[in-house]
Amino acid sequence: MTRTVYLNGAYLPENEAKVSIFDRGFLFADGVYEVTSVLNGKLVDFDGHAKRLDRSLSELEMKTPISTEDLLKVHRQLVERNGIVDGLIYLQITRGAPDDRDFAFPPAETEPTIVLFTQNKPGLADAPQARTGIKVISVEDLRWGRRDIKTVQLLYPSLGKMAAKKAGCDDAWMVEDGVVTEGTSNNAYIVTKQGTIVTRQLSNDILHGITRAAVLRFAREAQMKVEERPFTIAEAQDAAEAFITSASAFVMPVVEIDGTPVGEGAVGPIATRLREIYLEEMHKAAV
Ligand code: PMP
Repeated sequence: MTRTVYLNGAYLPENEAKVSIFDRGFLFADGVYEVTSVLNGKLVDFDGHAKRLDRSLSELEMKTPISTEDLLKVHRQLVERNGIVDGLIYLQITRGAPDDRDFAFPPAETEPTIVLFTQNKPGLADAPQARTGIKVISVEDLRWGRRDIKTVQLLYPSLGKMAAKKAGCDDAWMVEDGVVTEGTSNNAYIVTKQGTIVTRQLSNDILHGITRAAVLRFAREAQMKVEERPFTIAEAQDAAEAFITSASAFVMPVVEIDGTPVGEGAVGPIATRLREIYLEEMHKAAV
């Protein structure tokens, strides 16, 4: 099926949407993105993604090419035009396409490039991996120092994912100075034997996950104990449970780290409960 995508104000068939070879997203990875999930035809936590997008743009001194209100309309249009029930909406904004390649930012009148497209994922909330859990390996975190900005420089996370695949695993957790930062495309958590949920505190070292914010809020509301601090791979391997969160995986249990089973080596009760609460609340709040 030919998707309808959005490019710089126009809805186009995917094969007619073209971007310049001088686009700074293409030449310099000079762009930011967001991924919002769609459940039952509605957007999950749209406001959270729109706010983080604004922050990413302002941290990079990029123009905001569209208001949040119009952005919501575009998201809804794409859901409707592509008949998405469950899926994802990918949004990317780059610093635009000047006339030539130059490290210096282009003239102020250069318009940003804005692209949105849908990814159809029937049964997104019912992933079989949520019942079996995923396996991760650890890799050194060699990314740049502003991981709080959601840029399209995803080569290192992509290499991490491939290293995991080669090892027969699903994903990689990145480690810096002996402690876990986050997963290649998700935030990382453990549950201690005392039942405390532990995840790294917010800083420039990790992406401030929209799912993370919601899950920690729900965990605290459910009287679960939460500690925001770093943890090592050894502590994670010795924990009762581990899991990840992201806008597309929601809450996903991790059952093995570097070949060592976590806890019983099976999906644990806290990750399961948090996934249920998250999906239930997000279904209710989706727009
Ligand atoms: N960390 C990284 C590095 C990511 O790429 C992502 C997903 N884009 C996340 C965390 C999770 O963020 P969110 O819950 O907003 O999807």
